[in-house]
Amino acid sequence: MSVRVRYAPSPTGSPHVGNIRTALFNHLFSRHHGGVNIVRIEDTDRSRYVEGCEEEIIESLQYVGVEWQEGPDVGGPSAPYRQSERKGTGLYQPIIDRLLSSGAAYWAFDTTEELSEMRDYQQINKQPIGYYGGVWRDAPSSKVEEARAAGLPGVIRLKIPRDETIVVDDAIRGRVEIASNGVDDPVLIKADGMPTYHFAAMVDDQLMGITHVFRGEEWISSAPKHVVLIKALGWEPPVFVHVPVIKGKDGSKLSKRHGDTACLDFRRAGFLTEALANFIALIGWSPGGDRELMTMDEMAGAFDIKGIQPSPGIFDIEKLSWMNGNYIRQKPIDELAPMVRDYSFCSENQAYWETKNPAVASAMRLLVGTWQKDPDLVKSAIGLEQERVTSLAEFGTACEFFFVDEVTFDPKAVEKWKGQEHVPKMLDAFLEFFSGKSSVSTSECESLLRQFQEANGFDKLGPIVHPVRVALSGKTVGPGLFEMMSVLGPERIVRRLERAKEVLA
Ligand code: GLU
Repeated sequence: MSVRVRYAPSPTGSPHVGNIRTALFNHLFSRHHGGVNIVRIEDTDRSRYVEGCEEEIIESLQYVGVEWQEGPDVGGPSAPYRQSERKGTGLYQPIIDRLLSSGAAYWAFDTTEELSEMRDYQQINKQPIGYYGGVWRDAPSSKVEEARAAGLPGVIRLKIPRDETIVVDDAIRGRVEIASNGVDDPVLIKADGMPTYHFAAMVDDQLMGITHVFRGEEWISSAPKHVVLIKALGWEPPVFVHVPVIKGKDGSKLSKRHGDTACLDFRRAGFLTEALANFIALIGWSPGGDRELMTMDEMAGAFDIKGIQPSPGIFDIEKLSWMNGNYIRQKPIDELAPMVRDYSFCSENQAYWETKNPAVASAMRLLVGTWQKDPDLVKSAIGLEQERVTSLAEFGTACEFFFVDEVTFDPKAVEKWKGQEHVPKMLDAFLEFFSGKSSVSTSECESLLRQFQEANGFDKLGPIVHPVRVALSGKTVGPGLFEMMSVLGPERIVRRLERAKEVLA
């Protein structure tokens, strides 16, 4: 059997981590088995349809590196891949007719008031809430014909059998048995003629030859309805893989507070494709052992449904940052530098930071402005900060002190070294050394500082290195000082030392 899976989003809002994880599982599973991955847009609920959402879904999938071989954008043998268009071709009609004529489905003409009365009654009497038949389930056909002839708005519901055990085979949970009497009769076709998820998804899965259905755990309670429907049509159910919910580190429902956000916000925030894909795929799936950093190829090679845990997956944004830092460090500088430039240049990313933290946005703009005048300086600065940052956005702020005309001094750092006897003398000596030079190497800087240390009887290099760092960057932490000095170059160093003389003397 060749594997065919589908990612079937509803265009009702921005895709979040949970949606993207399902998409990734489909991608990894189909790649592992050399199968086909399909994107199908489930847009039959027109009241929840959000304009532009399908485009955002596609862009999000591309960003995390999910690939598909059939879909609304690429076509394929099961086209069309939007359910609204599928409805338009009339393909659902003969199937619903079959269900009606076999008695597996029925027309129901309950009004909104009648349905809400039913719910109130169930609530007061502590009965299960749902549609368990009402007056229409077993209504004589003459009554149905009358209602139809009168043009009453009606829906078509699935008749869940009574007193049976429905068996759902779930690849993660195993065999699940459900008493059919607790399962209500779902709507298959709404009053506006549109199919519901229950109907359209199951029919499409069959017509598209889907072998495995990866979907969120929230659908497991609907699975018995789906099994009844599939069996009523004489089909074989696909393998259901209900993937566990995702929770925050504190065990509560995942929310913005934990860092959950629209998938594209992760791109705007500066996370690399590799890091986000790796991070999301490992929420609830484990390749075994303690492997964590994995490329898409490695994950596809190792992917196995057995590695999906039934317990909730945990979303830990700190782990994402850690992974992102790792992937940033792995990049050759010739690839990383243009990436940081393009990231910082992108107005969408700048706008994102403008609302989150305007200082980051302005540092990004400074990086881009400096690149236009002196790309080598920016590349060297990126190379030095590569070891330290955990996102593309951080390069702006981390490198900022290289690019500014006047550094901003950290008052605490100044306080520590201001007035120390050797500092003014040292700054003068270094000013003299750098004046008139056009470039300086890392080793020249190192020997300059060491010579001063020895000549002035210091046991350690600390009292030399630390105030020089403050003088040149305004900060107490940063990349290796000698490398930093070589990148800044004599001209900038001279200007900064002169100003530092005023601040630190
Ligand atoms: N359209 C459904 C959703 O977005 C998909 C569920 C499924 O994959 O079957 O939740």
